[in-house]
Amino acid sequence: MSHEGIRFVDKEHAAREAEAEHKLPRIAITPEKVRVLLTQGKGLEIDWADGHKSAWNFAWLRDACPCATCVEQSNLEGRKPGQPQPKPAAVLPMYAPPPKPASAHAVGRYAIQFNWLDGHSGGIYSWEYLRRVCQCRECTFAAEETTGTPN
Ligand SMILES: [Zn+2]
Ligand SMILES: [Zn+2]
Repeated sequence: MSHEGIRFVDKEHAAREAEAEHKLPRIAITPEKVRVLLTQGKGLEIDWADGHKSAWNFAWLRDACPCATCVEQSNLEGRKPGQPQPKPAAVLPMYAPPPKPASAHAVGRYAIQFNWLDGHSGGIYSWEYLRRVCQCRECTFAAEETTGTPN
């Protein structure tokens, strides 16, 4: 009987399929130009080697922090990257200045790191991560098409 063998092949096939689906071509995760619009307080813009352009504002990026602590927190709350934390129902609304980094720097050749004014700096935003969370119409539409949860 070759049940084991069949299962093994199936598993391998599934893994290969998952990999094909999740792997982005190198050209898609290679930034050609990276602009951190610090002084304007706007956000991050990347022009990719494949011609695609992405932009995120700082508030989005802060909420999408990929460090272990923030990822754990957003998983607990069922938030997607960039989705803001639910605001606690406060009697007096507190003014919170929009998140902004004091500085940003490259991490090797593969990522960017922000030193947020709130003191947080653990998140390393890899180019691949950023490309996956591209907020342009085309990408957000594609993401909704593929990850839309049936209710
Ligand atoms: Zn974080
Ligand atoms: Zn895009």
